Amino acid sequence: MRAQGSPIPLLNKFSTGAREWQDCPFHQSGGHDDHRHQDAMTTHHSTGYAPSPSLGELNAKLKNGSWKRVSECLACQSRHIESFANLRRIAYDRCRSCGFTFANPPPPDEVLSEFYNTPFYNNYRKLEAARIAVQPYFTVSFNDLRRLSRWITVERSAAILDFGCGPGSFLALLRDEFGYENVEGLELNTASVQVAQRSYDLRIASKIEELRTKQYDLVILIEVIEHIPDPKEVLRTISSLLKPGGALFITTDSVRNIPARYFPSHCGHYTGPSHVSLFTEQAMTEMLTQSGFRVERLEADRSQELFGNFVASPFYKLDFLSPRSNDDLVDVLYVPNKFGRLLGLRPRRSLPSFLRKMKRIDSIIANAAAKFLATPPTEHLFVLARKEEA
Ligand SMILES: [Zn+2]
Repeated sequence: MRAQGSPIPLLNKFSTGAREWQDCPFHQSGGHDDHRHQDAMTTHHSTGYAPSPSLGELNAKLKNGSWKRVSECLACQSRHIESFANLRRIAYDRCRSCGFTFANPPPPDEVLSEFYNTPFYNNYRKLEAARIAVQPYFTVSFNDLRRLSRWITVERSAAILDFGCGPGSFLALLRDEFGYENVEGLELNTASVQVAQRSYDLRIASKIEELRTKQYDLVILIEVIEHIPDPKEVLRTISSLLKPGGALFITTDSVRNIPARYFPSHCGHYTGPSHVSLFTEQAMTEMLTQSGFRVERLEADRSQELFGNFVASPFYKLDFLSPRSNDDLVDVLYVPNKFGRLLGLRPRRSLPSFLRKMKRIDSIIANAAAKFLATPPTEHLFVLARKEEA
């Protein structure tokens, strides 16, 4: 691993335009608002999707196990945490000091294990496998790849670990298109491990003890940390897997924006028990520093929404629905509230056109407002941290 210097090979591919990756249909870093991609999908084989209740309905049945509250912020240890919102039956607290927003009580292991084996969750894995079969690297966020390639220099021989690699698409792309041979993944979901093996012939560990390499140059944690009830414990584990000075690349949702802060019940970030740890820039820096890392770069996408789905709040509340076919890429569900039902509205996957227009106006105002703010609200975080040299 070298410090910043000549670009890593993948940058050359992007910057020279040798190959265009612009049309990634479902980049995860776009958050939940990927409706615009829905019509571009062309596959129609859709068997094996088990019927599933919505997330809110599912959570009503999931409250087994012993949920134990924590009394301090998991990022900065402040005891000034306050009740924030109860969303689809998951209670979130928010730290008044750093803004870290987390499920409290955090879902216990047995609940997570139950949740990640429900049809609700398995349908996502099914969709992923079906899409990859017709469109390799489908799950890769090419924006993340571009940013990663701009930020660091990695030798071709570098040992790279994708922590929570899902179906392995990111690793496969690094190997197949960019020549990195020493790549490895860690993934707990057995269905995803099988997809990674079948689709890409990757060797994926399902436990830390099964990893072949014990010391990595680069660990990537893409859209994973928000799923972890105790991120600090995982960051310490990652630190133990990195060489001194090794790099950690993280992407995750940001909750330093108005919809996430003031209209949480209409913000797509809170999908507990899936999304349980949500960061601000300050919380991320606190947690990394306390876990033996030095933040080298932290960038954020600006929030494109001022009020988000709040425009729909007079009529609908927000829920989430698991995929029901290979084309079912939108997981937002608008459920009519009392007033909405009175008007005869029904649950729907996208907003009625008049509300879509309102959202368009909302995004124009948000972009204009951001120009006048010293620290514009952020939507997504990208972090490069280094393990402190001993
Ligand atoms: Zn805090």
